[in-house]
Amino acid sequence: MSEIPFLFQADEDVDLTGVNRLGLMGGTFDPIHQGHLVTAEAARSGFNLDRVIFVPSGQPPHKSGQQITPKEKRYLMTELATVTNPFFDVSRVEVSKDGYSYSADTVRYFRRSLAAGSEIYFITGADAIMEIISWKNIDELFANCTFIAATRPGVQYRAMLEKLERQLKPAYRDKVIAIEVPAMAISSTDIRRRVAEGRTIKYLLPETVEHYIAKQGLYRV
Ligand code: NAP
Repeated sequence: MSEIPFLFQADEDVDLTGVNRLGLMGGTFDPIHQGHLVTAEAARSGFNLDRVIFVPSGQPPHKSGQQITPKEKRYLMTELATVTNPFFDVSRVEVSKDGYSYSADTVRYFRRSLAAGSEIYFITGADAIMEIISWKNIDELFANCTFIAATRPGVQYRAMLEKLERQLKPAYRDKVIAIEVPAMAISSTDIRRRVAEGRTIKYLLPETVEHYIAKQGLYRV
């Protein structure tokens, strides 16, 4: 399947003027849903962030071999979902790049655009954070940002703590903050399954994204 042409050039990425406390919301967003939006807003208000920039992955290194929706379509769904929140933006930094997307490269890219002393919070799912020991350049990552791990209701929080306790040194563990997000009961996997089975996805994600999925015929088997 051919890719949609770029809507913007990479050098027209988001404007960070006046931003001292930045949230980076990393994810595959296949598709983006209300759980992601509630997580980003909870992090924004809870950690007093000036801006939350959603960063849809280009080619996730841990998903080679898995079928994922083309990156330009995931990017567009992220734009559609976030447009109504003035504190949210979407970056093309990962989708514009060929090859794998590594969070260390992404965080470094934003760190260079911020004033010295600014704070970066990398927000993502607890399941992803549990695998952080395998990420590229984790020493640089922990030097550049603090992590906010969104846990789903249930046992995920304890499982994450136990895993990080075994794998990370204390200085790094202190830079992982868990937030429980009840809306993360919604999952992209469940939404894809529902579409494939012809079940409703109404209210699980913004209406614009629901219509885009239907129009593009995404997730049908
Ligand atoms: P994933 O494996 O698809 O998802 C892991 C779990 O986290 C899923 O339960 C997912 O729920 C949830 N999740 C993902 N993004 C979330 C977010 N922003 N807020 C709340 N929950 C979220 O993970 P992924 O989306 O591919 O990766 C997450 C982030 O970690 C991305 O930015 C990715 O680039 C980064 N990462 C980096 C490396 C590396 O640098 N080597 C390796 C792995 C991941 P849903 O399915 O409902 O989203």
